[in-house]
Amino acid sequence: MIVTLKEILSKAEEGNYAVGAFNCPTLESARAVVEAAEELQVPVILSHAEVHFDITSLEIMGPILVEFAKKASVPVAVHLDHGSSLENVKKAIDIGFSSVMIDASHMSYEDNIRTVEEVVQYAHEYNVSVEAELGMMTSSGIGGEETQGEEHISEGDSVDYYTDPNVAKDFVEQTEIDALAASFGTVHGMYIKEPNLDLDRLNSIYAKINRPVVMHGGSGLSEEDYIAVINSGVRKINYYSYAANAGARAVKDYIDNNKDLFYHDFTVVAKAAIKKDVKRAMEIFLNKNQCVEN
Ligand SMILES: [Zn+2]
Repeated sequence: MIVTLKEILSKAEEGNYAVGAFNCPTLESARAVVEAAEELQVPVILSHAEVHFDITSLEIMGPILVEFAKKASVPVAVHLDHGSSLENVKKAIDIGFSSVMIDASHMSYEDNIRTVEEVVQYAHEYNVSVEAELGMMTSSGIGGEETQGEEHISEGDSVDYYTDPNVAKDFVEQTEIDALAASFGTVHGMYIKEPNLDLDRLNSIYAKINRPVVMHGGSGLSEEDYIAVINSGVRKINYYSYAANAGARAVKDYIDNNKDLFYHDFTVVAKAAIKKDVKRAMEIFLNKNQCVEN
């Protein structure tokens, strides 16, 4: 069944777990994610990122995701990832998306607030949830759903881009968003070096905003890091690059080991590998062993 981001994340809040948000730029990826969620009986977020519109347009992929969500045996939110304008937000809502992200994090603080407020006003009228970003996500430059104008960081610290907890509090209060994408050490794309997560900052953000925190650049972390961020308030984990890479590696293996090649077989092989990878992530995100210490 299709549900809003707000609903799916408030349940996660109660249960102290996170819901995976997986970009689905192709039919194989969408089917892999839905099948994985149904087999595990976990809620899931199907995302389509604006940077992937040139792979499959919003007009083609959007209705497929909405249809998958409606038919699914688990709660599914359909989400626009890194939306850049009210125009695209409106298009997604028209198609039936239950959640949108407006990313105005590259703008000045005042312009970010103004842009997000406008989207919240529009989306909430349609009972659609809104995620916005404060602080800047950076990118390793390899894969991922990086956004326009995003900084590529491969060396040194990017602490200057991290979300300030006090500013986050003000931002959430002014905009009335449903979830906040915060920057505290993850990057988009494949990790070149081990991520160094600022958990003190994350704890402080979560304590101040009274909203679910969204972690972008969420694939490629260790199991310990996932559990740590979930216990510190992360309720939505954007997971893509490592699943897409798993699909590609499986196709390469298949090509290396088979003589008669047909394209449709690649899609089957890729789907199976993506499904296996996202299933593992979904199981970790459930945070099942959270009571072990007590
Ligand atoms: Zn992102």
